[in-house]
Amino acid sequence: MPGAPLSEVAPEVYVLRYPVLDVNATLIVGGEVAAIVDTLSTDAQARELLAAVRAVTALPLVVINTHHHFDHCYGNGVVAAASPGCAIWAHEAAAAELRIHGGLWQRELYEKWLPTHPELAEGLAAVEPRPPDRTISTESTMDIGGRTLELRHFGRGHTDGDVIVAVPDAAALLAGDLVEQGAPPSFSDSFPVDWPDTVAALLDLTTPSTVVLPGHGSTVDADFVRAQHAELTQLASLIREGHSDGTPPDVIAAKAPFGHDAALTAVTRGYAQLAGRR
Ligand SMILES: [Zn+2]
Repeated sequence: MPGAPLSEVAPEVYVLRYPVLDVNATLIVGGEVAAIVDTLSTDAQARELLAAVRAVTALPLVVINTHHHFDHCYGNGVVAAASPGCAIWAHEAAAAELRIHGGLWQRELYEKWLPTHPELAEGLAAVEPRPPDRTISTESTMDIGGRTLELRHFGRGHTDGDVIVAVPDAAALLAGDLVEQGAPPSFSDSFPVDWPDTVAALLDLTTPSTVVLPGHGSTVDADFVRAQHAELTQLASLIREGHSDGTPPDVIAAKAPFGHDAALTAVTRGYAQLAGRR
């Protein structure tokens, strides 16, 4: 697949919207360091990302993973190897997931993607997942040379270790998969009862002019996030009601937003969470 160029979505903030899985990797250029937020799925994809980054800047690199899912961090090894001493940051829960399970998921991922995305499947099987080596628990600021990045964890949502990256001087906010454009949010590792509060905290950092980068899809604005927050809130209250009434998950999923399949995953996760099994 030919490499896509980066597009500048805010001052010195560039996005590579990668066609496979429509996932975003972002470059934030500081005065001394350039930060790459999320590194795509495979060595080959990460090399494309690096080539695109190097067409913009020759600065030393630092990596931030928004969460532990493979499409956001399996390119860590290739990206980090391109810059001596490159640190990889993530939430402590995401780092632990990758350290413990990063290599174990590969067989499962290979089998999942082989029928529809054979090139991706082969690439996933060949990766040596590299876990983050720097962690945050709730917040951290990063000086990249005349520019400060804010890394924040607002609680459980898409996973238990989502980090958002704010670039205050550019009015940009990288939401990871807490916000999704072009497809329903992904609930497979989610905490749907907590997710609305986490997005509400994210919304508190926005203004009408904030550019929000979702983990997948095109850039959006605060109004889009507000609308998604309303749907997540509706879903969470349906889950709470359904759980207390003992309503079967598929009955709740049929009246929930985001479509039946995504909602059923969410309801199943939410019921388990409310029953204290997660
Ligand atoms: Zn994800």
